[in-house]
Amino acid sequence: MSEIIKVVRSVRDLRKATSKWRQRGQSIALVPTMGALHAGHLALVKLARKKADKTVVSIFVNPTQFGPNEDLSRYPRDEAGDLEKLAAADADLVWAPGVEEMYPEGFSAGVRAGSAAKELEGEFRPFHFDGVATVCTKLFNQVTPDVAIFGEKDYQQLAVLRQVVRDLNMPLKIIGAPTKRDSDGLALSSRNAYLSEAEREIAPALNAVIAALAEDVANGADVVSGIANAKRKLAAAGFTKIDYVEVRDAETLAVPPDHDGRDLRVLAAAWLGKTRLIDNVAV
Ligand code: AMP
Repeated sequence: MSEIIKVVRSVRDLRKATSKWRQRGQSIALVPTMGALHAGHLALVKLARKKADKTVVSIFVNPTQFGPNEDLSRYPRDEAGDLEKLAAADADLVWAPGVEEMYPEGFSAGVRAGSAAKELEGEFRPFHFDGVATVCTKLFNQVTPDVAIFGEKDYQQLAVLRQVVRDLNMPLKIIGAPTKRDSDGLALSSRNAYLSEAEREIAPALNAVIAALAEDVANGADVVSGIANAKRKLAAAGFTKIDYVEVRDAETLAVPPDHDGRDLRVLAAAWLGKTRLIDNVAV
């Protein structure tokens, strides 16, 4: 028999559950997700359970972070499967509001993402991070977590949210978790389900190419020619469009000045047909 997990769909029911925990002095970790859960998400749940007494996982495919021509309507959804996985992972509560609960009639305020959102994804998905910043602020206000766990898979999202929490003095700690990968290096992603068999064969090249670039940069290679070379390798592997390959300051995501000894991160986004993949690695 499959295990069961408590699911709440209204802010009212959510508050009932969390206030009981608060009265008992228990701390809360939040793991925000858009569902279609895989081992990467479950690793975040595992980390959350270590960081607080109670773990809330939110499942909400947030319409405001999708652009008009993006994949909102076909984004994979499998709530029954997600609930089974979360029960097995020993999460305490699932927060799964409908769109009307999150954005009721008349909703119009929002949070503007800061400088970390400007480039990279921000150039190709102009309103994406404002949508992310707004929905995560709502999730933080709804769940009132002590800590919220996000994956390094979405490295810029992590940087943007750290900035929002810091700049707006939100009373929680953001924790980043390492990217879970398939054995061939491909970062796990709900969007990998879109890949054809042939595309799935090509996909691990994204990680291989940026990992090689990171190593070259660590060994002192020229960044500009390294990036050009990486883009050529991605095209040769079969990527149909390369949005960006960049080497950035690991904290601010700004273009790093030469030789200043700060931590760097290689970030990339590229398309295989209709599927856009992103990945990043430390230098
Ligand atoms: P998503 O459902 O794709 O919006 O992701 C929800 C959370 O899971 C985000 O914090 C992601 O960064 C994180 N995540 C997604 N894929 C992975 C992965 N392969 N490894 C670790 N975390 C991930």
